Amino acid sequence: MLIRGGCHCGNLSFALHWPPEPTEIPARACDCSFCTKHGGVWTSCPAGSLEVTVDQPGLVSRYRFGTRSAEFHICSRCGVVPLVTSRIDDRLYAVVSVNAFEGGAQSIVRPAAASFAGEDEAARLARRKRNWIADVRIVERGA
Ligand SMILES: [Zn+2]
Repeated sequence: MLIRGGCHCGNLSFALHWPPEPTEIPARACDCSFCTKHGGVWTSCPAGSLEVTVDQPGLVSRYRFGTRSAEFHICSRCGVVPLVTSRIDDRLYAVVSVNAFEGGAQSIVRPAAASFAGEDEAARLARRKRNWIADVRIVERGA
């Protein structure tokens, strides 16, 4: 399945290839303090690939907090947060927001509550390496 999504104004967009064709898309409604404020619900396909296109990199704010090991990519024009990335051992991993999906994929999203508050940093990074999208390309079109 090819899932497209992005922010509201079109500055940040993504294409997620999800093999094989999913019958449902498990998603995690994260209870961290940032995701609580934003209604963050995330998904990833470890075998998938993600291409992110940024029209105006100057209009993307990258926000970190806590262990500072993940970056939330926030469109500073419309305020939407379509993806989170984490660089681990020189590889870029990502999850995408199911709220930023466009098209039919939203109908097969199955959200569940998730809490990662008890993890130490090593466990957190190991989980991301297992579960997050490991084939991520970010294309910046330039200002
Ligand atoms: Zn935007």
